[in-house]
Formats: sequence, structure tokens, C-alpha cells
Amino acid sequence: MTKKIPEKNNATTTPVKRVRKQPDVSAAKKSAKSTVKESATKKPTAKKTSKPIDVSPVIQDKATASVTSRKSADQTDTGPAKGIVTAPADRSTGSENKAATTTPSTPIEKTQTSAVQSVPETSKSHEQQADQPSALSPSPVKQPDTISPPPVSEPAEEQPEQQQQTEADAQHAVEHYTPPGPQHSAKFIIQITPELAPLAKVGGLADVVNGLSRELAIRGNDVEIILPKYDNMRYDQIWGLCVTYEDLWVPWYDGHVHCTVWFGFVHGRKCFFIEPHSADNFFNRGSIYGFDDDVLRFAFFSRAALEFMLKADKHPDIIHCHDWQTALVPVFLYEIYQHIGMTKPRVCFTIHNFKHQGITGDFILNATGLQRSDYYFHHDRLLDNHIPHALNLMKGGVVYSNFITTVSPRYAVETKDGGQGFGLEPTLHHHHYKYGGVVNGIDYDTWNPEIDTHIPVQYNVDTIDGKYANKHALRQHLLLAENEKPIIAFIGRLDPQKGLDLVRHALFYALNNRAQFVLLGSSPDPDINNYFWELKRHLNDSPDCHIEIGFDEELAHLIYAGSDMMIVPSQFEPCGLTQLIAMKYGTIPVVRSVGGLADTVFDKDHAHDKPLNERNGYVFNDYDIPGIESALSRAISCYYQYPGHFRDLIANAMRSDYSWRLPGQHYLNIYDYIAYN
Ligand code: ADP
Repeated sequence: MTKKIPEKNNATTTPVKRVRKQPDVSAAKKSAKSTVKESATKKPTAKKTSKPIDVSPVIQDKATASVTSRKSADQTDTGPAKGIVTAPADRSTGSENKAATTTPSTPIEKTQTSAVQSVPETSKSHEQQADQPSALSPSPVKQPDTISPPPVSEPAEEQPEQQQQTEADAQHAVEHYTPPGPQHSAKFIIQITPELAPLAKVGGLADVVNGLSRELAIRGNDVEIILPKYDNMRYDQIWGLCVTYEDLWVPWYDGHVHCTVWFGFVHGRKCFFIEPHSADNFFNRGSIYGFDDDVLRFAFFSRAALEFMLKADKHPDIIHCHDWQTALVPVFLYEIYQHIGMTKPRVCFTIHNFKHQGITGDFILNATGLQRSDYYFHHDRLLDNHIPHALNLMKGGVVYSNFITTVSPRYAVETKDGGQGFGLEPTLHHHHYKYGGVVNGIDYDTWNPEIDTHIPVQYNVDTIDGKYANKHALRQHLLLAENEKPIIAFIGRLDPQKGLDLVRHALFYALNNRAQFVLLGSSPDPDINNYFWELKRHLNDSPDCHIEIGFDEELAHLIYAGSDMMIVPSQFEPCGLTQLIAMKYGTIPVVRSVGGLADTVFDKDHAHDKPLNERNGYVFNDYDIPGIESALSRAISCYYQYPGHFRDLIANAMRSDYSWRLPGQHYLNIYDYIAYN
């Protein structure tokens, strides 16, 4: 069988005194394997890999000259030498595609991180002292009409024990808060987001907004979603699209930008799409991120969303915004809009990834009407903690929101105390009493092998054999050999965050250890894509490997259903959805113990604090080759030598409940908490 590569086209005691109605501003493939002719320089490929595969020549052809070579622990991987580059905090513009631009010799950058260690809560850095927010006053039970701008005086130093208590309270509020009034009364919630699955999706954020909104609606809340009207959305996923607000004039620099607001249902959710009519052409660019003016684009969107809410007389109980792209929403709300009538909403700000923060210059103040430069360039507000004369939108979101969440409790600790906050650690320490973690759910209407129409054979935990029919279908689809081997898969953005060098190593480890390997991913960085194209060419004739470069939702479903194992060897991982989806499909996650992966995957052999029937995967700690090899070898051994145990593990994984039921409740607790306190 010769495969052809396709053309490259390329807290019970509620800390009332701490959380107030106001934010802390006063404290604050179908791959058709088609037709490309192999290039004349293509290496002759040894068919049917029964011995180690050496890809070094290919990489050398790529002139990856200035890299440091290394070999795997057992020397099975004689692949290309890798550049060992310490990953800098990519905080320049927040632009997605800047993630890997610091890798001159190989696109797969590497940060040699060890297992995350929490630092003592009492340790306060010099930077933290400099990042003291405004003084806190007792929480008013009744909401005043307006709030004062944040004073710049420093608060009294909090005792370490107090800090520990309030931090515990914040997470307790997430998990156990009960409102004093009617129990979780129905709320009007508006999600303001740059992404929404399935119509505008780059990563997990899109799935989260979709799944959370659905769960909140099922629980009787009124949920609306505001997002930009991108030209490249999947319009086939919108029902009843029509203009709902013809002439919205959004303040912008010295004038206004004319916008049209559209309405439509997306899987039953009420969505509003903002379409600006300006020469900037903010959202008609064929992709969601990756432009030099991304900060301006999303600052505009944030301002437009609030202007629309004001003009359309929308007064939600809760505004829930997401990531740096919408971090200016609470700033606008508390600095502008509450003074002109929007006094009701409270803001929950969810940070899906600290790596991208929206670092920018003062022009953003002029553009958005915030103006007072010296006011916002203050360490209590938007001044970046490290870059002089730079504004940090995400920091603004943290300072001004009533509550900040990130997408797993472990990542909440890592970002505040474990050096994973990309410079925002002191800010998080200062706002610790309103910062907690909620593990993402997944939408079991979309990701459920029992009802999944993207896979040929539906199955559940009682009919696991159906999985093997999908494995057969996956092999047919990808022209993989039909044999006894397990299929190990990777699905994800090809971003260094995802541990690309370990992904690559796992691929060769699998091929050399009686396993097949399937990869589906893409990157906005051409260097990274090229690297994987090169790998794909080299392995084109392998009957045990398939690399698919691109974004393909349908193929993703088949891979989740048809694979036996899913690797997620991330350098850092705020939550991770792939391991959660994989488990639902009975595909055993092999993950690094970091962030949300540590909160959701429990090692079959080593999770001694968990009963056997709650262990659902394989986990390794250190970000290195022995780490991933140890986990993969245990998984492959179990597959071959103890198939009964492996099947039990599949059942455990499929029974793990990572629906939105619990996270939905946690977000409602937070909404009540900020509404009542
Ligand atoms: P992140 O948000 O960092 O990208 P997550 O694991 O939280 O990572 O979410 C990734 C989501 O995107 C999952 O639903 C995964 O299946 C999907 N995904 C990632 N890359 C691709 C791709 N190339 N094709 C299809 N789906 C993809």
C-alpha cells in the first residue's frame, strides 16, 4: 500500500468584606490522500516499519543546522536533532500566531519544565508589593448606582493567615456557595466571546462557551451570546440569521463606527453578531486571529458589545467574558457604562490561557475612549507588571472583574504560585479572594459516542466492541494497516505549549513499539506546519502512521472513536479538552501531570488516592523523554499483555463524568456569589 500525500495548500463563610458588588476597581482530512507527486528529492521509504525509523536526513535537508542534537533514552528515536529553546513568555501582542516565533532553527520549541510545584502562599515578591491594588472597603449589600474610580493608595498589608483563608474562601465560593436569597434564582447572562463552537472555533474556548451556555440555559437561565460577525464563520450553523439592530454607532477614536448587529440561533442559543462597517475591515479577514491589529480588533469588539447592550436596553445580571480579547469589557463597564445607566451587571472573567494577554500601547486608550493615560498606566490598573509603558488588557480584566476564573483548580494554583502566570502572578496574588478554578466540561450532545453521527458505529460503555468497528473505519479512512496494534493519537493545535517535541518523540516511539500513530493538528505558524509536512512526507509510506495537517472537526470525531490512546504531553495545559473527549470515547489518555490534565486523569498504576475504578489513564510528571516513554510503555504493555485490564480502564474512562453538570453548577455558584455579595 502506497499512500499519497495531499497537495499542501497550503469559598461557606462568605468573605463579604472581600468580594463586593463592584469589582476591585475600588479595590479591583478528510484527507483524500490525493495526488501530490512525490518530489524528486523524497527519500525512498522503507515500507512496513519493523525497525526504527530514522528521519534525520529529512530534517537535515531542511537545514535545521543550529540545533542541539539529542537522542532518546533508549536510543530508539534517531530522529532529527532538536533545538532546545527556552520558551519566553509570549506576551507581545496576544496574537495567536506569535506563539512560536522565537524558534529560528526548529519550530518545535522546548521549555524544560519540571513537575509544577506550588510556592508557599505567604511568599510575596517585590513585584507583588508594587502591584498592590486600591484599598478595600466593606462590601455594600445594596448596590450603589456608581462606583468611584480606583484610589491608588496601597491597602493595609494582609496577614498570611488571612490571605490563606480568603483564598480558600474563593475556591469554596466556586464549589459550595449557597446564596442567601432564593436558591440559584434564574439569571440573565450574557457571554461576550471571540469564539463559539461550532461556528467560530480556534480552540477549547469555543467549546467552553458553547457547552456552558447550553448548560446554563437548560437550568432555566436566560443566556445570550455576543460575538463578532466573522466572514469565515460556519454560517450553516446559524439558524434564522437576520438584522436585529441596524444602526449601532460605536465610539471609536474621535468619532464613531457604524455597525449592524445580527441575530441568529446557534444550536438553540441566542446569538448576536456585531458587524462593523469601517475601512479597518476588522472581522472580514478569513481568520479569527493572527493580525497585527488584533488588540484593536478585539478592543473594538468589546466596546461595541457594551454599546449594543446599552442601546438595546439589555441589563443582564451577569456578563461573562473570556480571555484577553474581551478583558476590556469590565473596564468599560465600570469606567464608562455604569455611569450612563448600566448599574446592574456583575462580571465574571474566565482566563482560558495566560500565555496571550493582549499587551499593547497607549493608542488603545485613545481608540476606545478610556483616554486618561496616567490613570490607566498605573500598577493598580492596566500597567503591565514587567514591560514599562505597556498596557496589559488581561490584567485589566483581572483588576476590574468581580470574579476571575481559570479552567482548572490546578492551573489556578500554577498561575498564581507556580510560575505559570506569564507575569500576572503578583496581580493574581492581589486579587486572590476573587480567583478560582473550574474544570471545563464537555458537551455530551456533541461529544458522545452513543449519539455521534460523525462516526459509523455508535457505542457506549455497555457496547465497547462498537469502538473497534470505528477503529476499522479510521484505518480505512487513513489507509492504515489492519493489524493488532493499538492506535495512539494526538489532536490539537500545533503550538509549543502542546509539547510538540514529545509528540514527535511519541510518534517514533509508537512506530518502534508495535503501535500505530495518528496526528491531527495545525498551526498558524508556517514553520511549524512545514516541519510537520516534512515529517508527513517522510512517513508517507508507513502503513502505521498518518499525519493530517489542518483543522477537521469530522475527522476529529472519528479519531477520538477509533483510537486506543490519546497523548497530551503539554508543557502547560490550562484544562485540556482532548483528554476529556477521549475518555468519553473510551480512548485512554496518556498525559503529563500539569494543569487540568492533573485534575482529570488518574494514573492506572500510581493514583493510590483513587479507587481502581476511578483510574482512567496514564500520567507522567516530568517534561522529558523518559517521562513520556514510561507512560506510553505502560499503556502499550497493558494493551498487549492485560487486555482485560485495558478494557476495564476503557470502561472507567467512559464512566468518568466530565459533562457540564458540575462546572455549570460551579459557575452558577460564582454568579450568585458576585450577585449577592
Ligand atoms: P486548546 O484550547 O489549547 O486549543 P483544548 O484541548 O482545550 O486545547 O481544546 C482543543 C479543542 O480543539 C478540542 O475540541 C479538539 O478536538 C479541537 N481541535 C484542536 N485541533 C484540531 C484540529 N486540527 N482539527 C479538529 N479539531 C481540533
